[in-house]
Amino acid sequence: MKVGGDAPISVQSMTTTKTANVDATLEQIYALAAAGADIVRCTCNEQAAAEGLAQIVPRSPVPIVADIHFHVEMALAALEAGVHGLRLNPGNLRKPEEIKLVASEARDRGVPIRIGVNAGSLHPDIYERFGGATPEALVESARIELAYFEEVGFSDVKISVKASSVATMIAAYRLASETFEHPLHLGVTEAGPLPGGLLKGTAGIATLLAEGIGDTLRYSLTADPVEEARAGRQLLEALGLRERKGLDLIACPSCGRAEVDVIKVANEAQAALAELKLPIQVAVMGCVVNGPGEARHADLGIAAGKKRGHLFIQGQIIRVVPEDEMVAALVEEAKKIAAEGVAARLAARDLGAEAEAAADRALLLDAKGTDVNHAAARIEQIRHRTQS
Ligand code: SF4
Repeated sequence: MKVGGDAPISVQSMTTTKTANVDATLEQIYALAAAGADIVRCTCNEQAAAEGLAQIVPRSPVPIVADIHFHVEMALAALEAGVHGLRLNPGNLRKPEEIKLVASEARDRGVPIRIGVNAGSLHPDIYERFGGATPEALVESARIELAYFEEVGFSDVKISVKASSVATMIAAYRLASETFEHPLHLGVTEAGPLPGGLLKGTAGIATLLAEGIGDTLRYSLTADPVEEARAGRQLLEALGLRERKGLDLIACPSCGRAEVDVIKVANEAQAALAELKLPIQVAVMGCVVNGPGEARHADLGIAAGKKRGHLFIQGQIIRVVPEDEMVAALVEEAKKIAAEGVAARLAARDLGAEAEAAADRALLLDAKGTDVNHAAARIEQIRHRTQS
C-alpha cells in the first residue's frame, strides 16, 4: 500500500496477541482490517515472533509492519519473514553500524522503514542535549536516524515523532513537516483508555490533518485495537479524507422537545444498521418540529412526534409510522435505498405523508411551542411595570 504523496491517508493499528500465535494474530488482523485498518503492525520481539510473521504475512489481508525495539537481529529476522515494512525506534536501537545494516537490507529488499521516535523512549544523549523530550529533540532524533539511512542510499522512509502530550506532539509534527519531505505517520502515544484516549488522539491527529500534515495514522488506545482502527477510519471519513465505507449515524443531542428517548432509539438504530454495512448517512431526531429540517442533508432519517415517527429522505417526509416501528422502518428503508437509490425511494413516497406530518407538527407547536413561557402574560406584566 502506498503511503504519502497523493495516496489516501491510511489507518494503522497494532495487534495485541503474541505474534508467535499465528491463528490468534491473524484473527485479530482480519478484525482490524474489517474495522478500517489499512496496515497492521505486529511486534517482532523474539525468534518465535519472526517465525510467526513468516506464516502471517502471506495470509494477511493487509500489509504487515514489524515493530522492532532493541534487537537488530529481530529487524533482520522480520525482513527474512517477508514483512512489508519495519518500524525502528531510534531511542533503543542505537548503534550506527546496526542501523545502517538494517537499512541496507531493507533497501535491497525494497522494504520501507518507519523511523518511530517516541518521547517516552528518546535517545538519552538527545534528551540531555535538549533538556527533555521537546519537539526539537524528537525531530533531531529522526534527523540523525535519517542521516544514517542516507549514508547507505536508503530513502524509503516514513517518520513519526509521537508524544503522549498533545501539545508537544502537534509542535513536533509541525516542525517535522518543515524539516522532512518524507511521509509522516501521526499519533498521540499512550493516549490511554476510552473516552479520554480517543479525545487526545483526535485532538492531535485531527489538528494536524486539518493543516495538511500527515500521511498515515494510528490511535494508540488502551482498548481493543479494533477501536483504534474504527476511530481512525471514522476520523478520516468525518474529515472527508476517505470515502464513507459504512454507516454514518447522526442524531440530535435531544432536548425538552424530544418526543422519544433519543439515546435509546439512536443506539438501537446504530446496532441494527451497522450490521448492514451501508455507506449512507442516517439521522435520528427527537422531534418532528426541527428534526427533518435540521437533518435534511442526511440520506435518510426519522423524527419522533405524537407517538409517531416521520420517516424522511433528504428532508422530505416519505412515510409516517407508529413510534414502536420507527427503527424497523428505518432499517427497511435503508435497505431499499441501497437497492434502488434515493430518487426511486423519493418517487415511491406516500403522497399523504407530508400533510399528516404537518398536522403532527402543528399539534406539537400548539402544545409546546407557542406559549410554553406564557409569553402573553409576561409581556403584559413587563408593560405594566415599565409604564408604572
Ligand atoms: S431535533 Fe428536536 S428534540 Fe432534537 S435537539 Fe432539536 S429541537 Fe430538540
